[in-house]
Amino acid sequence: MTEEQFWSGLGDYQEQILNIITNLSSKTYVGIVNLKNKQTWWSQRVVDFFGLEKNVFDYAMEKSTVKVHPDDREKYLKGFSDRMQGKHLNERFEYRLMTGKYTCSLFSAYGQIVRDEQGEPVLFVLVSENHGISDEIDSVTGLYSEEMFDEHINDIIQRKVPAAILKVGIEQFSRINVLYGVEYANRVLSEVTYLLRCAAADQGFVYRLSGPKFALVFKRKNKEQMQKVYHFIQDSLSDRLYINDKKVPLRIAGGAFILENYAMDAIAVRSRLTYAMNHSRHKHHGELVIYNDEIDSDMHDNLELISVIHRDAIEKREGFFLCYQPIADTKDGEIRGMEALLRWKKEPYGVVPPGVFIEWLEEDPCIFDLGNWIISQALRDLKEISKEKPDFFVNVNISAGQIERKEFRDTVLWLLKKSGLKPEQLCMELTERCRELDVNFLKQEIDFFKSKGIKVAMDDFGTGNASLALALDLPVDELKIDMSFVRGIQEKPMKQAMVQSIVSFAQNTEKETCIEGVEDKVLLDYLKKYHATWHQGYYYSRPIPFNEFKTLLHDSEKKQTQLRRKLYEQSNHFRSNSLHWM
Ligand code: C2E
Ligand code: CA
Ligand code: CA
Repeated sequence: MTEEQFWSGLGDYQEQILNIITNLSSKTYVGIVNLKNKQTWWSQRVVDFFGLEKNVFDYAMEKSTVKVHPDDREKYLKGFSDRMQGKHLNERFEYRLMTGKYTCSLFSAYGQIVRDEQGEPVLFVLVSENHGISDEIDSVTGLYSEEMFDEHINDIIQRKVPAAILKVGIEQFSRINVLYGVEYANRVLSEVTYLLRCAAADQGFVYRLSGPKFALVFKRKNKEQMQKVYHFIQDSLSDRLYINDKKVPLRIAGGAFILENYAMDAIAVRSRLTYAMNHSRHKHHGELVIYNDEIDSDMHDNLELISVIHRDAIEKREGFFLCYQPIADTKDGEIRGMEALLRWKKEPYGVVPPGVFIEWLEEDPCIFDLGNWIISQALRDLKEISKEKPDFFVNVNISAGQIERKEFRDTVLWLLKKSGLKPEQLCMELTERCRELDVNFLKQEIDFFKSKGIKVAMDDFGTGNASLALALDLPVDELKIDMSFVRGIQEKPMKQAMVQSIVSFAQNTEKETCIEGVEDKVLLDYLKKYHATWHQGYYYSRPIPFNEFKTLLHDSEKKQTQLRRKLYEQSNHFRSNSLHWM
């Protein structure tokens, strides 16, 4: 029997055989198009996925586009028809298929052409693979994630396509989380997604960035058109968003960037968008800020610098190091601990303080790994000091992007265990953005760390979200009173009253306090009357590299010993004199 005879004998069973083969892998979906009459057969898995009533259709595209994510339809149709015409045959193309109202799976497909003996195309075979819910798709909104945003922007830059990009952030979204819970918040995000997709219409793509932030990428739009889109989004979200028939008015901030110069990468684009959006939030009451208008050349240098730092944070961590600032006991002025403060250094920029970059890095997932490196480095340095001072402690600044990660608990415990130090030698300072997290969540995390003996402080108390109400709610061990309360305190009764009430509140709730910004002796002497637990500031020392810090500790110890000896001698002298007198 020849091969031909073998196959022709199987004529009736072809479909069953095909289904058996294609069902071998649960991820594989197959379509076969007869190129002569365009009739198409879909494998059983496709039929099930789309809920089709039969396997064969008259047109290839019939039914198969319904579930393609609207943003990907154009790409899907082009990918399909290109390959049917024999173009890009060995290249895969990706698209999302909707699996629910807002959920998607990522698919990648490739096509092959079957030819007859004359070389004429007869059949087109499309094989696609279901990658499920991958990191590339946000599971709440079905939108492409930040990773894909970067990838697509890099592609646009490489192909030098003109593009206009809009970043939109929902203001105070954490309140929705706190008030109504995560499930409700996710529904809000889904509805926001729907409205954003309406705003993008068929001219743009929508991406979910971190948290309640989104990006819209348009092929070509000028500033006026971007303003129009933004106003549409602003109006829709403040007025047209309903859940369970109840209006949910949302405020937004927005930054846009028109891509005209291609000497940059996605990270630089994101930096620009973040910069413009932060300006919108802090300086323009949520009105759209277009980066191209706002930024002068000075700032340009700064942004290039941030891109370099960002890359270091992701890749090598090469330029980062820690400086330490002493924390002194107010009772005797002795240095009993230190705060670790991040620096970055590289030529030709020199040493760069965190004020320039920390806000940007905190927006990025890289802060988690960088933050872990900071903790482990601070513990390593503390270990060295601990040999002589076993109770010395280190304060480390913690960002929201660290504490909100599930692995954070285990990571901290592991780093601490590895160091062999006592848990109470580590104090975690919750910085400004941590306080935007859900209060109940924060409480849980603080309780957890406290139960392990680790200390937790609230940084910059009295500013931003760090109100007394929050302090009442959060079981922190220490309040660090922000420097702004101390500046000019001698002449400002309001500030005096604030510091006094924070310290009394802390004492009544058995919390410690640290006054920051103690710059000179006069201020120090004045502040003593508040009886805070700790003092910190330039008077003791500016933040300095670890080697200098060790020298400082040695010197201050020598000074303390001399001082103690002097006091001892004075008191002896006084005693002998008084004895004499008696
Ligand atoms: P912070 O935690 O409130 O740190 C205190 C800042 O005040 C430090 O600035 C310090 O150099 C400065 N400072 C200390 N004493 C005085 C004083 O007497 N007078 C004045 N005028 N300033 C004083 P720095 O190092 O530039 O840090 C700025 C902020 O960056 C920090 O504020 C903190 O929020 C953030 N940061 C620093 N290191 C890290 C880090 O490792 N991780 C995270 N997440 N944030 C960090
Ligand atoms: Ca701090
Ligand atoms: Ca502080």
